Amino acid sequence: MIQETGQIGLWHTKAMDSKWRDDIPRTTSPLKFFLFASKPYWKFAVTALALTILGNIISSSSSFVFKLIVNAAVALQQGASFDALLFDCVLYVGLLAIAKALWRISSFFEGVWATGAQATARYGLISYVTLHSRGYFTNRFAGAVMNKIRHTSSGMREIIDAGLWGFLEIFVSATVSFFLALSVSHLIAGIFFVWVFTIVLVNFYLSSLRIPYAMRAHNLETAVNGATVDLLNNVNAMQEYARRDFEVDRLKQKIEERRVAAYASWKFGAINRSVNSVLLVLFGGAMVYMTVQFAKSGLVSLGDIVLVMTIIFRIEGLLQSLGSNFIKFAEVWGEVRESLEEIVEPHEIVDDPDAKPLRISEGRIEFKNISFGYGESKKDVLDSFALVIPGKQKVGVVGLSGAGKSTIVKLLLRNYDIGSGVITIDEQDIAKTTQDSLRDSIAVVPQEALLFHRSLMENISYGNLSASKKEVVEAAKLAFADEFINALPEGYETLVGERGVKLSGGERQRISIARAILKNAPILILDEATSALDSQNEVAIQKALRLLMEGKTVIAVAHRLSTLRQMDRILVLDRGRIAEEGTHEELIAHKGIYAHLWNHQAGGFLPEET
Ligand code: ADP
Repeated sequence: MIQETGQIGLWHTKAMDSKWRDDIPRTTSPLKFFLFASKPYWKFAVTALALTILGNIISSSSSFVFKLIVNAAVALQQGASFDALLFDCVLYVGLLAIAKALWRISSFFEGVWATGAQATARYGLISYVTLHSRGYFTNRFAGAVMNKIRHTSSGMREIIDAGLWGFLEIFVSATVSFFLALSVSHLIAGIFFVWVFTIVLVNFYLSSLRIPYAMRAHNLETAVNGATVDLLNNVNAMQEYARRDFEVDRLKQKIEERRVAAYASWKFGAINRSVNSVLLVLFGGAMVYMTVQFAKSGLVSLGDIVLVMTIIFRIEGLLQSLGSNFIKFAEVWGEVRESLEEIVEPHEIVDDPDAKPLRISEGRIEFKNISFGYGESKKDVLDSFALVIPGKQKVGVVGLSGAGKSTIVKLLLRNYDIGSGVITIDEQDIAKTTQDSLRDSIAVVPQEALLFHRSLMENISYGNLSASKKEVVEAAKLAFADEFINALPEGYETLVGERGVKLSGGERQRISIARAILKNAPILILDEATSALDSQNEVAIQKALRLLMEGKTVIAVAHRLSTLRQMDRILVLDRGRIAEEGTHEELIAHKGIYAHLWNHQAGGFLPEET
């Protein structure tokens, strides 16, 4: 029974300690990562390995008892007593029973090890990946990242499976069988050795040829899955545009590519197995022929013939799958390596080694000479940008789409590091403060409210995890959300659906505001917070926002100019620079861009182009 604490039956394991969570090696080597994931379970691993090896030795040795049985049967016919035959039969069954028992016991240990290594890997990787920056996630599908985590963690289990039941079993059985063959004749043992050696080499070679095909099939599989998830996520758009045929045909093409690659890989597998069969017939045949010849000349017993045949069939069964084992192993190995390369990339934004917690006194924000760009050019979005926001001032930022409004917000939150310049809050360089303290000091009401598929209660209390239910309800009331929440059948316990799809835009926005109210951070960012609202909603939201803004430094990015009238100061951004600034009245009187936008505003929204 596994309990949350990591207690497994009688054994206590520490996989879920934060030690394992935060210590994942910065490596792309599957071996090193595998050793890391197995480390909390090393005792289980050693026991499982020892028991499996012992079980394999005993099971392989049982071939020898066949020889004894046949020889005893021959002796019986020549008048010997029945006891020897009976003893050998009992011995055979006894050895098998012991081998099976060892395997079964080993499997319990292996189970703890395999599931544990998988859990350690998953826990560590999830922890690591969540420290990646906004940029990292912008460039990747969530599903693809999830797959990498899944592949690596289940890879740990598969490596153990393939290692224990694939290679280790073959290695031990082949070694024991070699010595058994040696007891018959050096020549037979020699043929056996060459056979196993050849088959390992040939399988290794053929597998290495097959790996690129297998990988390609695998990557296409991932691509098909990614495209399917993308389609399912956007199924509304597909229906609205009646693009079902287009989408399904697009997938059909990908599925076909994957089929071709998968078949190419399959073909190699079939060739590999055929070669193995030919080798079996040649070498196995030679071994049997030679043994029979030796028996004819009286050099070996009848029992030896049976022993040799038993060895051949035993090993043949194991070797048949050698090629597929190589492929499986290489696939898992490659997958783990590829996933690690993607996940264990260095974090883009890290706390300075001497980072201190940010201490806010008045909430003064300053952008000093900032240059920034998303791509190669580090200054194509902002070039020598400067801005001072005195503590508790409320600043509205407007500008056409693409002017750089959201970028300023992202830089303040340190979602990206800047090319050059310094951003300070109360004279502390934000790059020298801890990211957690920085983001703790800033509440964001984003453009698209981000909701977890959890209850509304949990979604609001995300702003302050230690808030009581009463405080959550209070915040919801202030955000004008309490009323609609209470009208839902399950009230605050309602699950909101993936990304909050079960709520309207305005409702999501209000949950988001309630969350920010609960967070009560000294700096507030409103990123076009009212864009998703109808005017009735907007009046309520404006009230809530006014309350939320009280006593805080506020940056409000807006498309809707009417929402900016209550700001102390408005900045007009144009291609990454401040083109105008002042109060609403001053800017209107200035008759510049703002006045132009104001005059052209249709229904409260900015035109996309001027
Ligand atoms: P606004 O918020 O004013 O609409 P943004 O700050 O979002 O503008 O964008 C400023 C510029 O940066 C635009 O040219 C936009 O295309 C570019 N940009 C924004 N986000 C990214 C990103 N993640 N990667 C690359 N370019 C981006």
